Amino acid sequence: MRGDYPRTLIELEHRFGSEEACAEYLTALRWPDGWKCPRCAGSQPWAVRRNRWRCDQCRYEMSVTAGTIFQDSHVALTIWFRAMWQVTSQKNGMSALGLQRVLGFGSYKTAWAMLHKLRRAMVRPGREQLSGSVEADETYLGGLEEGVRGRQTESKALVAYAS
Ligand SMILES: [Zn+2]
Repeated sequence: MRGDYPRTLIELEHRFGSEEACAEYLTALRWPDGWKCPRCAGSQPWAVRRNRWRCDQCRYEMSVTAGTIFQDSHVALTIWFRAMWQVTSQKNGMSALGLQRVLGFGSYKTAWAMLHKLRRAMVRPGREQLSGSVEADETYLGGLEEGVRGRQTESKALVAYAS
């Protein structure tokens, strides 16, 4: 899954064109060996909504975004994925204003808040430590790019779980 991240904007548009596709990707990142209920370890989920799972055994419900930077966000996952793309593909970084423009947000505040969250969760090549706000399980969103130098390494971002 890690090597499965789009390399180009066209690929991204194609791959993550719907909330379902984004939620599926996050699900596969979080549960690479198949979904597991955090409460009873049941492995039979069913989708309550597009990005919400319910355990068939104990009825525990959880969102695929629970504990991630996307949790409780009113911004659609499709927009988040585009924001991540923009932020990670800009060599010199992305400003909140730039993000607002490219995503067509009416609100600068939304763009700023998203950028802030992404920056806290992101690891870039050459940066050794995660910031203190990022804890527990981290999952790379982006391809494995060992030994790759230059622009490609910029596409690596981190989705941080606070669980
Ligand atoms: Zn359960």
